[in-house]
Amino acid sequence: MGAQMETLILTAAWEPVGRVGWERAMTLWLAGRAEVVEVYEDRRVRTVSVHFEVPSVLRFVRGLRPQTKRRPSFSRANVYARDEGRCQYCGRRVPRHDATFDHVVPRGRGGKTGWDNIVIACLPCNRVKACRTPDEAGMALLAAPRRPHVLPRAPMMVTWEKGMPLTWRQYLRDTRYWGARLEQDG
Ligand SMILES: [Zn+2]
Repeated sequence: MGAQMETLILTAAWEPVGRVGWERAMTLWLAGRAEVVEVYEDRRVRTVSVHFEVPSVLRFVRGLRPQTKRRPSFSRANVYARDEGRCQYCGRRVPRHDATFDHVVPRGRGGKTGWDNIVIACLPCNRVKACRTPDEAGMALLAAPRRPHVLPRAPMMVTWEKGMPLTWRQYLRDTRYWGARLEQDG
């Protein structure tokens, strides 16, 4: 049983939020706060009376409290969270892999990359709007974009690295893309 054996922790919304030692993971699970999603197939913990598999991925049963301690960083994941996964033009729910990021005022017209000028949009709306302002395109925003003080969910904190347990792979796919800090203009 290597001391380095760790468990990946997911939020109730399946976002990777941290990694802890397996003993801590067992405590969360035994307290009923998290469920086992994946186990280390080849490892078992044996005590006098029982032996059980070691969790490699755990998922919190209930949602985490919104983040309040620090201001959310400007990342795709956080813009997506702020917009609650809805296209800000038509209001449709957009799965993360289909979401596009729209400059409300296009870059070519002096629009900045930042919290107050980036929203998520579905592909059809993004194509229709193209390089126009919302006024020109006749497309109203659901709400004026702002920097959020808190986010409805914890952002992704863990990204895939070589050498991590393979059972983590599918939960960490795309996290580098989604969790990356974005350059803000001005
Ligand atoms: Zn749309």
